[in-house]
Amino acid sequence: MRNLLHTFYGKLSAVFLILLVAMGIALTAITLRTSSRYIAEVDQRLNLGLAGDMASEIEPFLGDTIRYENIEEAIHYMMVMNPKVEIYLLNAEGRILSFFAEPGKTVQAKYVALKPVKQFLSGERKTPTLGEDPRQPDKRKPFSVSPLSLGENESGYLYIIIGGEQYETAAQMVMESYIVRTTLTGLLITLGFTGLIGLILFAFLTKRIRRMSKTVKSFEQRNHEARIDVTSEDEIGQLGESFNQMADTIVANMEDLKRTDKLRRELIANVSHDLRSPLASIQGYLETILMKEASLPQEKRKQFLELILNDTQMLNKLVHELFELSKLEAEETKPSVEPFPIAELIQDVVMKFQDQAEKANLSLSSTLPSNLPMVSADIAMIERALSNLIDNAIHYTPAGGEINVILTRDTGWIQVAVEDNGPGIPEEDLPFIFERFYRGEKSRTSKSGSTGLGLAIAKKIVDLHDGTLSVNSTLGEGSTFTFKLGIYDGE
Ligand code: ADP
Repeated sequence: MRNLLHTFYGKLSAVFLILLVAMGIALTAITLRTSSRYIAEVDQRLNLGLAGDMASEIEPFLGDTIRYENIEEAIHYMMVMNPKVEIYLLNAEGRILSFFAEPGKTVQAKYVALKPVKQFLSGERKTPTLGEDPRQPDKRKPFSVSPLSLGENESGYLYIIIGGEQYETAAQMVMESYIVRTTLTGLLITLGFTGLIGLILFAFLTKRIRRMSKTVKSFEQRNHEARIDVTSEDEIGQLGESFNQMADTIVANMEDLKRTDKLRRELIANVSHDLRSPLASIQGYLETILMKEASLPQEKRKQFLELILNDTQMLNKLVHELFELSKLEAEETKPSVEPFPIAELIQDVVMKFQDQAEKANLSLSSTLPSNLPMVSADIAMIERALSNLIDNAIHYTPAGGEINVILTRDTGWIQVAVEDNGPGIPEEDLPFIFERFYRGEKSRTSKSGSTGLGLAIAKKIVDLHDGTLSVNSTLGEGSTFTFKLGIYDGE
């Protein structure tokens, strides 16, 4: 029971039932009060002229001396007709001169208040006008009254209490009055029915809240699939919807954290691996040079030193690219966007790689439409991204191949494409080539200064310019890397 009262349903039902009982008590009180006034009113209305009739009956017996025996006889006859009445003879001040009722009844009061009497006689009465019952001075009852002359100079009243002892208590009234009994039973049934419907309704409404709380608990206990079944658009439905959205966000954030953590661990593993191999080879060559100091032919020594230089260059590149990528990923480097002519930048970068391309026996050219507008971008960053793409193309395209950097104008955009007719990228590699440290089969096996960071850096740069770096590649035919830059709109 205590537990039930701690639930929302319990509290709601308790308040509801208390309200219903209070309402029941108030309605019962009102019903009893109006019923008793109604009965009093009916009694009074039916007996309005009773005192007047009786007065004319007994007036002959009143004179200088009041002939009580005769009066009693007359009254007795009337009381046979209407046994519930109690009859009082009052003087002008309201003093009780005589009293007629069923035998055995006693009267406590000596006076009757005349205010209601006068009100009754004035004709301005509102029914029921209730007067004092001399037998029970604290109770007011319906009455009938008539003025009466008690002799030559004296006047008085014939005061009749109607239905003197009728409905003394509420319980008695309920027992005896059909209307009151029926009204109260109806009230009881209505309240009982309302109570029952209310409890069922509350149970139904709170069931959704209970179900919701169960789901939330289940989610809290690491069942991250748990979602609230939203079936309506009311406040409870909206709450459920909000919880579901919150749960989705929490799950997504957790996935993000897990992924970042995995990436971080992979990064450490990759970095240590990539640092270890050149360092080991440097150490190996240096040890050989030191050990064989005198016996090592000049030629060999030069070759070893060149290899060492190669490895240190590789280390330098790796550390530099790592630093660059981590700065880009931490979003420390924000692009400092400015308008510049993209065609000129392409020409400069192509020129920069021309030597390298010639050495690899490749043709490197650019296709630039005339009158191109300026683009808005970070010139240094775009140069870096372009260099990485051209460097890759030179690196992976076999001798005799062709590399072309093509600019095309679009509405609001200029598209930059670096196209080669190299070996292409295997389909299974395509989804991963933009990930850091991802190297295709060839780069992994050949020791060619590949870090697996070039495309990751280029992609990050394009991302920072709100663009997408995409690739189109067919095995044996070549690859094309494209991205778009926004045209400078003069603002
Ligand atoms: P890497 O230092 O290995 O070049 P990148 O991030 O620049 O690292 O490139 C990732 C991988 O994508 C490369 O290892 C290579 O397999 C593939 N790749 C990139 N550019 C080309 C290209 N133009 N032609 C063929 N394969 C490419």
